[in-house]
Amino acid sequence: MTSTIQLTDAVQFVSGIGPGRAKLLARLGVKRVADLIFLFPRSYEEVAEMAKQEKFAEGLRVSVIARVVELGERLTQSGKHMLGVHVVTEDNAQIRLLWFNQSFRKNSITDGQRYLVTGPLRSTGLNWEMVHPQIELLDEDETPKHKKPLPIYPLTEGLKQTAMRGMMEQVLPDFFSAVDEAIPEPLRIELGVSDIQTALRDIHLPETIEDAVNAQRRFKLQELLVLQLAIAMQRKSREHAGSALTCEPSGKVHARILNRLGFQLTPDQATSIKEVADDMARDIPMNRLLQGDVGSGKTVVAQYAMLLSVANGYQAALMAPTEVLARQHFRTLMKSLKSSNVRIGVLTGSMPRGERNETLEQIANGEINLIVGTQALLSDRINFHQLGLVIVDEQHKFGVMQRAKLRTDTQQPHYLVLSATPIPRTIAMTAFGDLDVSTIKTKPPGRAAVHTYTTQPEQLPSWWRFVAARVEEGRQAYVIAPRVAEGDDDVASAEGIFNELKSSDLNRFSIGLLHGRMSGEEKDDVLRQFADGQLAILVATTVVEVGIDVANATVMTILDADRLGLAQLHQLRGRVSRGSHAGYVCAVASSRLARTKPENGTPKESGSPDAVPDNPRLKAFQETDDGFELAEIDLKLRGPGDLLGTSQSGLPTLRIANISEDRELLEQARDAAQRILARDPALEDPDIARLVKQTLKRYGKSMQLSDIG
Ligand code: ADP
Ligand code: MG
Repeated sequence: MTSTIQLTDAVQFVSGIGPGRAKLLARLGVKRVADLIFLFPRSYEEVAEMAKQEKFAEGLRVSVIARVVELGERLTQSGKHMLGVHVVTEDNAQIRLLWFNQSFRKNSITDGQRYLVTGPLRSTGLNWEMVHPQIELLDEDETPKHKKPLPIYPLTEGLKQTAMRGMMEQVLPDFFSAVDEAIPEPLRIELGVSDIQTALRDIHLPETIEDAVNAQRRFKLQELLVLQLAIAMQRKSREHAGSALTCEPSGKVHARILNRLGFQLTPDQATSIKEVADDMARDIPMNRLLQGDVGSGKTVVAQYAMLLSVANGYQAALMAPTEVLARQHFRTLMKSLKSSNVRIGVLTGSMPRGERNETLEQIANGEINLIVGTQALLSDRINFHQLGLVIVDEQHKFGVMQRAKLRTDTQQPHYLVLSATPIPRTIAMTAFGDLDVSTIKTKPPGRAAVHTYTTQPEQLPSWWRFVAARVEEGRQAYVIAPRVAEGDDDVASAEGIFNELKSSDLNRFSIGLLHGRMSGEEKDDVLRQFADGQLAILVATTVVEVGIDVANATVMTILDADRLGLAQLHQLRGRVSRGSHAGYVCAVASSRLARTKPENGTPKESGSPDAVPDNPRLKAFQETDDGFELAEIDLKLRGPGDLLGTSQSGLPTLRIANISEDRELLEQARDAAQRILARDPALEDPDIARLVKQTLKRYGKSMQLSDIG
């Protein structure tokens, strides 16, 4: 018997598993008996309803008890073997069962016998058919047993579904009662989930599909609850870790800051500013995400926070993901703070040593109040004088590690991160779970519309004529290519298209080139020329994606657009929606896409909506200009990992729950985690000890939870 084997023992010692199967199971991550019990089915084989004739409908999957009245075989016109079996059901429905190229079937089907037949119904108009149904011989008086849903497990080569089911059926009854409950009863009642034993039985050996779904719900909730508990614990420890510098808001400062703006705040900006100011007034470090679509006006909120910190006598740091963007921020701040006493510095990786050292010194002695930079700001060599606030622009570009690092390498500054990639709510609650969120939804008034077209490479000549016409009118244009230099494939490159345009009609305009392999200084130069209007057309890689602000640039061509992510495309589009002139974006599908879609091959007017290539991302891009909506679509199309870049997303890998699909459960889990901590701040209740233990085991290291529990 298995009585001597424990849940924690290696699976190979379970009778019937042995070393051979254990090796196969190891490939699925199953080493111990407990791992096997927690290897859940991916899904379940459909169980068809026993159906009466009057319920028959096209496409419906049904089971019927039927008698064979005729068998025939022939060759179809295309030379396939066809077996046709005519059956009559118990309530006299006539169904023709068809098999193609399965002549062996005829040996197992006998005229006059009773069978249980299962498959999808198809109507020919005259009668019903089933193609390749499942068929099972019944004895004369046999009623088919109630069919249970069959679990479908993840498999590996050499391990069959039936073997897997067999192992589960064998192991489960012996061991599942030894699994300890982690969710105490009151919480189970609150969440409406079954106990661990019931759930384990129902997820592996369900009587009905409802039972299986309920069991899945329990395990998803448990997984999400553990995650949300970790987030809540992390948040709590951060809030108690050390005190931040409080920044007193004052009416005078408020008025002074707002007077510098040439415009009225939008309501969302005003709300965000209030949320930020409230946070900064506390001695608990602010940890806030400010999200808003491109052009929604996040910079104003950031500036407000920085000036609030400086007005209170503390430094503020603004970190941008690229050098180009850091320098642009620096220029904007210099311009808008020209006549103030605020001293602004810039720090990037490519600065000459002397200049850099001088800046470092001015940071250390407090001469510089406001420091703008790239990731160079993360360097250990920086000694801030009294850093009150850190702002990170375009947060999605930074990894979680970097966030953590910035947070601990100084004495607890307030922390505000800006993201123009709207983060779907579910993601905000997981990867960014310990952040508070402010959202800017409405854009500043007076923004002209952006027209988005998607088109095929064949239509480029007429699109270039359109671009030329806009440039003649005095506007400027971006041309974006995915690659820097030409490679073996025919993916558009910035250098390639730059040379192409130089030798085309467009060479009558001044054309510039910008890409990531240029030096910081070169990039800066080109960008300044474009901003000053000396360049009419800027050919660039996606380095312009984030934050570049040239209001007169209103036309953008994106080549091989289907190679870019939806968020990236939307970011790029944001570059031409900054001024009062209408913007025009043309996303050109790659020729690769065009070639595989010959039905789209007929040339159409450029910008014609029916020229949309068959690419769901480009379709969504053309159809909506709402970044929040696009983010949700992107999440569905790509899954959560890709959305933020798997390696640095900071997203936990979940085994059963799914961040794109289980939003409701995620919210329930978060609420439950918050209730747990509110009821029992020290997490001492023995009833939740197991849950806390699971949380620490799963996330203790990655989320630095060691100081609790
Ligand atoms: P983003 O959210 O993409 O960082 P910005 O902060 O750069 O957007 O703002 C985009 C443009 O809108 C800037 O030129 C800015 O001056 C302008 N802007 C911001 N807020 C307002 C407002 N309330 N009214 C009018 N223009 C505004
Ligand atoms: Mg910005």
